[in-house]
Amino acid sequence: MTSSTRENPEKLLNRARFSIAAAEPGQWPPDAGFEVAFAGRSNVGKSSAINVIARRQGLARTSKTPGRTRQIVFFDLDRQSRLVDLPGYGYARVPERLRAAWGQLIERYLTGRQALRGLILVMDARHPLTELDRHMLHWCEPVGLPVHILLSKTDKLSRSQAAQAVSAVERFVSDLTNPVTVQQFSALKRTGVEEAQWKIVDWLEWESGDARGNRG
Ligand code: GDP
Repeated sequence: MTSSTRENPEKLLNRARFSIAAAEPGQWPPDAGFEVAFAGRSNVGKSSAINVIARRQGLARTSKTPGRTRQIVFFDLDRQSRLVDLPGYGYARVPERLRAAWGQLIERYLTGRQALRGLILVMDARHPLTELDRHMLHWCEPVGLPVHILLSKTDKLSRSQAAQAVSAVERFVSDLTNPVTVQQFSALKRTGVEEAQWKIVDWLEWESGDARGNRG
């Protein structure tokens, strides 16, 4: 199905409602339906990206407290689909033992969650592919999880610098066996918002009238 025959993706994404912030996998919503998760290191612009993509100011919030590193936040879109905000990583104040807990939680979610259709991985366009960004990619590869990378804050770069950042990341991911795509993004200037929205609703298999395609 082509985009032109489908409704505006905001019709689904704007329905996002907070469901639960869960530290324990036992508290996660039942593992059914369709989910798209967002990940990225702290301060990269992940909350801003979620809010602008859902056109819901204040939906996702950044919390700098270490406790937040253990919580996965679920937002319901409709009965079958959810957006998921994974805890930010690499925040300097997080103690080592919490970092280990973070890694276990994220790996468990990324590798075990059946409902997960794709990961939006937010990286700062000025310094992408940090060590933890690479960890995220390497967790996704063996399970064949599709990843779409948002190179954030491109408003801070010139056009050619932003294009170079995309090329560098594309070169790196071309060796991976799972599908990985890359785009420029700026929550501030709203650059690339529509492209990200279409990627997400495609993964959620949302079509006009809420009909769902077969997943095969
Ligand atoms: P998070 O910790 O990854 O959720 O990051 P936030 O969304 O809270 O953003 C961290 C900081 O980066 C805040 O000061 C935002 O205002 C800023 N920020 C987020 N997105 C953009 C962007 O597209 N351009 C610029 N220049 N700043 C941004």
